[in-house]
This record gives sequence, structure tokens and C-alpha cells, in this order.
Amino acid sequence: MDNQGRTLVSFDIDGTLEMGDPPGPLSAGFVLRTQQSGCLIGSCSDRTIREQSAMWDAAGIVPDFVVVKNQLDSVRERFTSPRYVHIGDTHVDAHFAKQASFEFIFVLDLARRLDSPCEPFEDFI
Ligand SMILES: [Mg+2]
Repeated sequence: MDNQGRTLVSFDIDGTLEMGDPPGPLSAGFVLRTQQSGCLIGSCSDRTIREQSAMWDAAGIVPDFVVVKNQLDSVRERFTSPRYVHIGDTHVDAHFAKQASFEFIFVLDLARRLDSPCEPFEDFI
């Protein structure tokens, strides 16, 4: 598949997604909408690959990638994209995003912007 031109968005789980423990502010619907808008999506979490895959299964979403937190750079090697974004809730997320040359979006900043309904969806990420 030709991935050129598709923004790649990596989601942390715990504290970031509603399916996390603790639950975060982003819904499965938001992730699905991100994917449907043309982005490559997946998770990058402290959880095992098996646990992350089970979470996606339960949410009815087929992710493009699933990696453990310190392997975000492997996603960059697998997909050619004009833009790599990681969304998370802690400084650990920010650290690994920086290490893998991903933009980092703090989930609470994103959640605040989601409260402004006038913004077109494409502008959220
Ligand atoms: Mg987290």
C-alpha cells in the first residue's frame, strides 16, 4: 500500500484513550475518525503487544501498527510518512516521541481543543 502523504498518529493507551487504565480523554470514536480521515494509526504503550492488540480488537479498530513504548522508532522505519505524531499523557511519552523524531501532542491539550466544536476535524492533529 502506498502510505505517502498519510500522517501517522501513534496513541499511548493508559491515561490517553478511554480504553486505558486509567481512562484518558480520547474515545475509540476519535481514533476511528482519525483513521477514516486518512491517517495511519496505532498504539505505542507500556502494555505488551498482545494486550494492545486485544484492546484494539475489543474496540473494533484495526490498527496499522502496535509497538511497545521504547520502539516507536521502528514505526518510522516501517512507514514513510510526511508527518509522525505521538499522543500521550506523560513526560515518558514526550521523551520517546523526541527520541524517535515524532511530534508530541499532550493529550490534555488535544482534549481541550476537542471541546471547541467549530474546528474542522483535520485541524485537531
Ligand atoms: Mg500513558
